[in-house]
Amino acid sequence: MKLKRFHILIAFLVIFLMTMSSVAATCNIIVITDPSGNDPNGAAAGSMSFAENMFQSTFLMSKNNHFAVLSGGTGSSDTRLESVVEAVASLENNASAASAASIASQYKGARLVVGGPSIGAAIAGDYHAYVITVDDASNDIKVTPYTSGVATLQPGQKGAIIHLRNTAGNPLYGTADTVRKETAMNIGKMIRDGYSATTILSEAMGEVARDSGEKYGGGGVNLVSGISTSDMFTPQEMNQTGYPMDDEYSKVCDECGWAIGYPMAEGYDVCPVCSSPIRIVHAYEALGSALTISSNAVSVSVYGTDKPGVYSTTQEIVEASVAKYGYDASAIAGSINRAINNGLLMGVDHVEPKDINVKQGSKAVGVYFTSLPGDRSSPAWELPIDGNILNILGSIQTAVGIILILLVVFRSRLLKSFQNR
Ligand SMILES: [Zn+2]
Repeated sequence: MKLKRFHILIAFLVIFLMTMSSVAATCNIIVITDPSGNDPNGAAAGSMSFAENMFQSTFLMSKNNHFAVLSGGTGSSDTRLESVVEAVASLENNASAASAASIASQYKGARLVVGGPSIGAAIAGDYHAYVITVDDASNDIKVTPYTSGVATLQPGQKGAIIHLRNTAGNPLYGTADTVRKETAMNIGKMIRDGYSATTILSEAMGEVARDSGEKYGGGGVNLVSGISTSDMFTPQEMNQTGYPMDDEYSKVCDECGWAIGYPMAEGYDVCPVCSSPIRIVHAYEALGSALTISSNAVSVSVYGTDKPGVYSTTQEIVEASVAKYGYDASAIAGSINRAINNGLLMGVDHVEPKDINVKQGSKAVGVYFTSLPGDRSSPAWELPIDGNILNILGSIQTAVGIILILLVVFRSRLLKSFQNR
């Protein structure tokens, strides 16, 4: 059943990718700071490019088995995809990262970057990479360049792999060699200094975007907790670039949770709700906070609306409300309704405490914007099987039974632009 679903998904993806010109991720990064898998932010991966159509930064992440497959290279997109599918299949059969990545060499021009907290990481095929290792005992950083064969980060080893090339036409063409090396060194220093993989990924993507111009999302995944940036930074239409990861992404009020995305954010210098100073969040920082589970973070699920901006605004409001009043459904409903009255949240109806699902143990809150008939309370969540993992993750909504998720979210708009071609 699951397998059938996967095949349909892949078939759809093949058709989708075949309609697009051949472009690929020019930057792939995977970072493992906690090979034990205990740190919920201890392994992360991401892709970017100067090119458009970075839906093809396509990567697959297995939430159940905690691995990611990133791809790229000079080959055609269907060739690349075949290699991705084969690598996923071999990882599902417990292949090592090195042997899964080595599949790339069977496909002309393809590149595969494969890894997870427990399996280490590997890169093979068509690439220009550094492997970074940090010794547990001595804290020594080792940064080694590779351009052929299979380069690996051994299982159990703290470290990272970064691949970077410049796309023809990028005004910063020619910077890739320097930036690859400098970013690799900085990744090593951050691993040594104890930062988590999600934070390091975010900083590294910021550095690559600024200094090499291979800056369009793309996106990232948290391999331990199974979180993806989904369509935060991918292009909104076909044949466009994604969001520049070094650019300003949103403005946030840390005091009350008010937040607004660009370009609307340009009009605000202080918080319109509480007059506090507001903080500018760059896209790479937004990637970091989207992927990072902090002890204070609240995992927010939103149901009953897919209106743009509602999810991220609701998340900020719920986080601020929980920080102030705790996990209290009435207080959260009150905060949301105030935001609706203030015009921060648009296109949704007022909520009641019964529309708010609170799971304090998992630090999770569900908000149902479609009011329910009569006195019915919000429906039960579809909880995935392993409650322990959930509590570590604190992210209930993300684990709803699909083995693999795509960075690409086929939102209706994108689908329409696909169908109209
Ligand atoms: Zn405020």
